[in-house]
Amino acid sequence: MLKHIPGKTNTKADILSRKDQVNTKEDNKNVQLLKDKLWQRRTIAEIAIMGENKAREESGILKEIRRIETREKEVIQALERNDGTTWEEDRLVYMEGRIYVPNNKKVKKEILRENHDSVDVGHPGQQRMLEILKRNYWWPGLKEDVKRYVQGCFKCQQNKVLHQRKAGELHPLEIP
Ligand SMILES: [Zn+2]
Repeated sequence: MLKHIPGKTNTKADILSRKDQVNTKEDNKNVQLLKDKLWQRRTIAEIAIMGENKAREESGILKEIRRIETREKEVIQALERNDGTTWEEDRLVYMEGRIYVPNNKKVKKEILRENHDSVDVGHPGQQRMLEILKRNYWWPGLKEDVKRYVQGCFKCQQNKVLHQRKAGELHPLEIP
């Protein structure tokens, strides 16, 4: 007949259960780590996809810029100076780190449109739009083009009139 030794059995069981507990905890920790990792990876992937959509639009413009080979005199001169402020890389000219946009109406218009009419930017004013553009692009007369673009935007002009009306600043029409 086996003599039951409670203390010993309990100790063994305790050790086992403690071991189990530790293992479970460790497993949970690993599962949690894996979950965190996957979550992180998913989040990174999502950001990458969002970035890719943006990049796809951008790359369309960059493709256009690369295709145009004409360069303005001041750009050629800046390249020749070779003083570190202007350089060429992958068929793009960088002026103080900003991409030089060649004198092409279609490309300029596309860039202006994307940095004014698109949902992410939402019709910024001249100053703000210039700030946004200057982060990436440069061309001679950029400031004037931005001014002209904003002044020529129907939606912006409409808003301006509405604001003026609301503020009661609209002068009565002169009768000729
Ligand atoms: Zn506008």
